[in-house]
Amino acid sequence: MRIGIYGGTFDPIHRGHMAAAKAAADRLALDRLLLIPAGVPPHKALSNASAEGTHRLEMTRLAADRLGLSIPVDVLDIELCREGKSYTCDTLRTLREQYPEDELWLLMGTDMFLTLHQWYRPEEILSIAGVCAFGRKPEDVDTQFSAQKQYLEETYGAKVVILNLPELVEVSSTEIRAALAEGKRPETLDESIYGYILRFGLYGTHKDLKHLNWEDLRACSYSMIRAKRIPHVRGCEEEAVRLARIWGVDENLARAAAILHDCTKYWSLEEHKALCEKCGIALDDLEQSAVKLLHSKTGACIAHEVFGMPDEVCKAIFWHTTGKVNMTTLEKILYIADYMEPNRKFSGVEKLRALVYTDLDAACLLGLEMSVADLERRGNPVHKNTWEARDFLRKEKNNGC
Ligand code: ATP
Repeated sequence: MRIGIYGGTFDPIHRGHMAAAKAAADRLALDRLLLIPAGVPPHKALSNASAEGTHRLEMTRLAADRLGLSIPVDVLDIELCREGKSYTCDTLRTLREQYPEDELWLLMGTDMFLTLHQWYRPEEILSIAGVCAFGRKPEDVDTQFSAQKQYLEETYGAKVVILNLPELVEVSSTEIRAALAEGKRPETLDESIYGYILRFGLYGTHKDLKHLNWEDLRACSYSMIRAKRIPHVRGCEEEAVRLARIWGVDENLARAAAILHDCTKYWSLEEHKALCEKCGIALDDLEQSAVKLLHSKTGACIAHEVFGMPDEVCKAIFWHTTGKVNMTTLEKILYIADYMEPNRKFSGVEKLRALVYTDLDAACLLGLEMSVADLERRGNPVHKNTWEARDFLRKEKNNGC
């Protein structure tokens, strides 16, 4: 197995790091990539505005998910957990024990590569791993690089690959921290990582989370979910706004509800239960063990507590999974938009789409019936609110008979 090892302060991790990691994975045909945020970088002092190691670790995890690589990408906390300076040779020794038979490759940019011979124990580093070096600016990969490659090869018997990055992102974390402190949103920062920074007020950002503009609210929401769910949340927003315009609901409320509706989707059962208890939300027997039913409840709590959303929005989020008796138009819109937004592909979805712009109740009823049928086919229990929502709309359809 060929393993790439990419360490850095990642304070914060940015599109330059991500582009380099992707290019190296491709060029070296890696089987696995390890991203390792440094605890105490030996070569530079952490800035005063630096983020805590736990935040740098979380942001690196977000970046790993957003790389979209087909190989496993692990984010390791070994340097954050180790006392003292984060020497690469200690990390490599540990990894060599863990991967005794595998080919290890250290990935690094210009600044690191050109000073590698000055690191702690370069001979040991270069006996354990090969080096894949890439430039950070167009002028970087030049004679200096070749000279350093030759020097390392001749002096240490190093294995060195020089990589011309197909996409150069000329930025440093220092520049990003400065831009953030001035209230700017750097393009060179992934949207979700920017959202994470806003949520935790890192790097001198002081946004009031209860009064965010749409872009910032989206970034915060996306920072709480996996990359593969983002297209669904975008689609749900698009659909909810379309339906709000048609059915005479404030489109801002529909947009906010859609953006936040899945923000706790990846929480564990324990996390959901803890927040429900804190917010005084009683859970019935089924909800006590059905993690899939709980993100609507905790999502509503977060929408209220963290993002200051009005009651109508929180209620729409609260009921979007099961539905309920006598839903408001906004609640129906979120329920059905979640079910049939443009990215959804299942048999019957076209029928829903044909109905929803002319008869919202009929579309919700059909959605509830399809949902019940689907749950029963899979042998999953159906929550009583869903039965009641379905029966209520059936009765309404038959004029209360
Ligand atoms: P800082 O500005 O805080 O010093 P940085 O942007 O240099 O941070 P690090 O986390 O120190 O980022 O870098 C980790 C590794 O990523 C290093 O090997 C570095 O050379 C490389 N690297 C950093 N930025 C880029 C970039 N824009 N393009 C390619 N490689 C980069």
